[in-house]
Amino acid sequence: MKRTIRDLKNIKGERILVRCDFNVPLDNWGDILDDTRIIAAIPTLKFLNDQGAKLIVCSHLGRPKGYDKFLSMFPVSVVLMKYFPNKVKFCNKVIGPEVKKAVNQMKNGDILVLENLRFHDGEEKNDPTFVNELSSLAQFYVDDAFGVAHRKHASNYGVALKLPNAIGFLIEKEINVFEKAFKQPEHPFVAIFGGAKVSDKLNLIKNVIGVADKIIIGGGMAYTFLKAQGYEIGNSILSEDQLDNAKQILRLARQKGTEILLPIDHMCLTDKGMVVRVREIGRDMTALDIGYKTVKLYSKAIKGAKQIIWNGPVGKYEDRRFKKGTTKIAKAVAHSKAYTIVGGGDSVSAVNMCGLGDKINHLSTGGGASLKLMEGKILPAVEVIDTL
Ligand code: ADP
Ligand code: MG
Repeated sequence: MKRTIRDLKNIKGERILVRCDFNVPLDNWGDILDDTRIIAAIPTLKFLNDQGAKLIVCSHLGRPKGYDKFLSMFPVSVVLMKYFPNKVKFCNKVIGPEVKKAVNQMKNGDILVLENLRFHDGEEKNDPTFVNELSSLAQFYVDDAFGVAHRKHASNYGVALKLPNAIGFLIEKEINVFEKAFKQPEHPFVAIFGGAKVSDKLNLIKNVIGVADKIIIGGGMAYTFLKAQGYEIGNSILSEDQLDNAKQILRLARQKGTEILLPIDHMCLTDKGMVVRVREIGRDMTALDIGYKTVKLYSKAIKGAKQIIWNGPVGKYEDRRFKKGTTKIAKAVAHSKAYTIVGGGDSVSAVNMCGLGDKINHLSTGGGASLKLMEGKILPAVEVIDTL
């Protein structure tokens, strides 16, 4: 078991470097569009702050190349000020003498928010000098940045190797949810996979064969499977190099008794720009959503489930004409009696777009990191955390 913040004792007055995921979406003016990620970090910060620790809080934001005033952490610190009145200070540097000075001036229970980690290229390179500078600021390290836990960056992987450490509540919950779902699943266990590329998600599908009772495949990845079975898919998205793998997966599923459901009708765009529903995709067509018969078939499987994991929209949901399938699946998942987990950047935004976020048992906060957990992989930044 990984050490969590509950296992850190006598931390009053101790300096703790806390890596959060404050990578919030911004509008063109640099204002925060959605502060979910900041709010998600509050329980961890509050738990440590209540004990009188000095918290040095850091995160990345966006993909800056060097300093970028539009990607400053300052607005994030303003949100935190609302939750911790008179306790939060912002430092406009990540490392260096100004930071050291600000840290030395901290009183028990203070929270110091550092500037965007990615203003330094040492962050993503896990550069040893940058790691040393960061870790010299604190006596303990806490990682609660689930969104980057699949990366070996300085502020998570590098620093964890240098300081006594623990994971925060957010990472702890994510790991526990996925571990339970795969190691002690509730049956019937239905996994739903969609999205654009099979190649990215093949390991995901393999990991649930023999564990899930049914695998529903929709979205762009369905057509590689249909093509592998000899169906015409027109101009629909295809991962040609994965055809053999798709065949192998279908075979493996048959052997292990996992049922794979594929679309039986489709919403297609014709080369004349018309939207049509068909059972068989024509050569001049591009399938961009599942049809209503497929929705019915999938909804029935979803209704019978006791556990559901969903990754990947079943259609091009960003386009109004092709969002219906994903909306219907989101509703079926949200209204089912099963324990429901949704992971993946687009999948979570599709659920939120339908206003159904609070009806899902676990909405995973990290895109790439949740995919890794679904693949059954260990996250490098978690692996380096001390075990009890
Ligand atoms: P997630 O972020 O949840 O892991 P992905 O990024 O794998 O999901 O997939 C989402 C993308 O897949 C969306 O941009 C969506 O438009 C696209 N997509 C889904 N179905 C289709 C389709 N039939 N044809 C083309 N693109 C599709
Ligand atoms: Mg995505």
